[in-house]
This record gives sequence, C-alpha cells and structure tokens, in this order.
Amino acid sequence: MAEILKGAAAAAALDEKTAEAVHLLKIRGITPTLGILRVGERPDDVAYERAAVKRCEKLGIAVRLVTLPAAVMQGALMAQIAMLNSDSNVHGVLMFRPLPAQLDEVSACEALMPVKDVDGITSGSAAALYTGAGKGFAPCTAEAVIALLEHYGVVIEGKNAVIVGRSLVIGRPVSMLMLAKHATVTVCHSRTRNLAELTRRADIVIAAIGKTESLTADCFAPGQVVIDVGINYSESKRKLVGDVDFDAVAPLVGAISPVPAGVGAVTTAILAKHVVLAAGGIV
Ligand code: NAP
Repeated sequence: MAEILKGAAAAAALDEKTAEAVHLLKIRGITPTLGILRVGERPDDVAYERAAVKRCEKLGIAVRLVTLPAAVMQGALMAQIAMLNSDSNVHGVLMFRPLPAQLDEVSACEALMPVKDVDGITSGSAAALYTGAGKGFAPCTAEAVIALLEHYGVVIEGKNAVIVGRSLVIGRPVSMLMLAKHATVTVCHSRTRNLAELTRRADIVIAAIGKTESLTADCFAPGQVVIDVGINYSESKRKLVGDVDFDAVAPLVGAISPVPAGVGAVTTAILAKHVVLAAGGIV
C-alpha cells in the first residue's frame, strides 16, 4: 500500500513558520491582513473562504471580507478592487474566480496591485513565475503541490514529472514550479494521445483535470508518487473524490495524496504564508 501524503502534516509545518513570522510582524506593529473579494455565493468559493478565514484567524492574520451580489456590474467591482488596493492595512487580496459572465475578469485581475496579488492572478505574477525573474506569487494551489512533495521528502530534481492538465490556475504554474525545481516536465491535456503510456513512465504524476476518478490503475506503475489536485463530487459515492481512482491506484504506487485532505489542506496554508510575505514578514 502506498504512503498516504496527507496535507494536514504539511500545512501544520508551514503554519508553524507562518505563525512565528506573524508574531514578529506584530511586534513591529503590523497585523498582516488578507482582503477577500467574493462575487456571488458559489458553494466552492464559500467553502474555500471558510477554510481560509479559519486558518488566518488561527495564525493571527486579519481578514477583510468584501462580498458583492452575483449581478454586480463592472464599475462596482472595480471600485472595491481600488478600495482594497489603496488600503495600506490590506497586504494581500484573494479574488474568487471565475467571475459571473457579465464581468470582464481579465480587467478585474489586472486591476489588482501586483504586490497584493497573493494568489498569482495578474499577468505580472505569471511573468515572474515563467521567467523566474522579478517578484510575484505563484497560485496557491500550484505552490501547495510543491510544498506537499517537499514536506514528504520527495526528490524533484532530475525526476520525470507528468502533469495532467494545463489550466492557468494549476497545470501551467505547477509545470513551471516543477521545472524550476529541475524536474523534466511533460504537460498533458485533453488532446494528449496515449496518456496512460506517458503517465506510466513518470516518477511523479500530478493530476489536475477536474474529472471524477478518470485516471485509473492502468495509468500508473509501482513506486510512483501521485499528487491528486482534483476535487470532484461523485454522485455514485456521494462524497468528494479526486481525478485519480484512489482505491485502485493506492495499492499500486509508492505514494499518493488523498482527496479530500491532500493538496486542498495545504492551499490555505500557502495563502496565509503569501499574505505574511506580502506584509513584509520572513517565512
Ligand atoms: P480546468 O480549468 O477545467 O482544466 C482542466 C485541465 O484538464 C485542462 O487543461 C484540460 O485539457 C485537462 N483535461 C480535461 N480532461 C482531460 C482528459 N480526459 N485527459 C487529460 N487532460 C484532460 O480545471 P482546473 O481549474 O485546473 O482544476 C482542476 C481540478 O483541480 C478540478 O477538479 C478543481 O476542482 C481542482 N482544484 C483543486 C484545488 C485544491 O486546492 N486542491 C484548487 C483549485 C482547483 P484542455 O486544456 O485540453 O481542455
């Protein structure tokens, strides 16, 4: 049976360092503060917000919550972004996406001050990630994947990593972070041919597809490390599951992250760390 890479242990280790940095910031009279901008009431957003607020409160990070109705118009949204930008007591901003269809998401993202972009949604943050130069935070979930691997001592350098999914939020940033850690990276997507052949040859497989248990046992080989980023609701099992068929794959591979309680548990710990860094802390 594979080693189970639970997120809670990695998150706790991160939290310990973040809490210490918060303590030092408070001695300097700075309370690190996260602004959360949520449009509408999407259950996923509300659940993530609840987890983020809980973690911030535990670590002594203040939260400024701004909620707008789903039917809000662009001008009102931009006014709230400008307000969070100009408030020097707010160090980082998390804006939930996708935004409702009537809103111009690109303009909203680009309006955010780069130094407050703690979830890596501006093109400036993406450029920093892709060039390795300049400042900017990676998207929290992408960085959580790396944090989980490193917490469990998985060597990345020189390994063959196959990332399944090429979204701007997960697949692409994870591929850049893995490349920066000197993995040899293959990025797969919905038009990839012979997906199972490629994943079977990898040392590390990172699944970020968004399709219920779609990577089955034939995609894996003994000894592999598998990180499952997917969060899907299985109608038949009536519970959250990942992109990997955990029950069939766990007995086969060397290590695997569960869903829930895997990557998702680390994501808010990375968010908290980013807020503290944005406030001038050292984590
Ligand atoms: P997304 O934007 O829908 O992207 C999915 C990617 O998977 C696309 O690149 C798509 O390829 C690829 N894909 C779809 N079907 C495929 C198939 N059969 N074979 C190979 N590739 C396939 O999704 P996302 O935003 O990246 O999210 C991915 C998953 O992560 C979702 O389950 C989401 O809920 C979860 N998630 C988890 C966290 C966390 O904290 N753990 C945070 C955010 C999201 P194309 O580009 O060709 O369409």
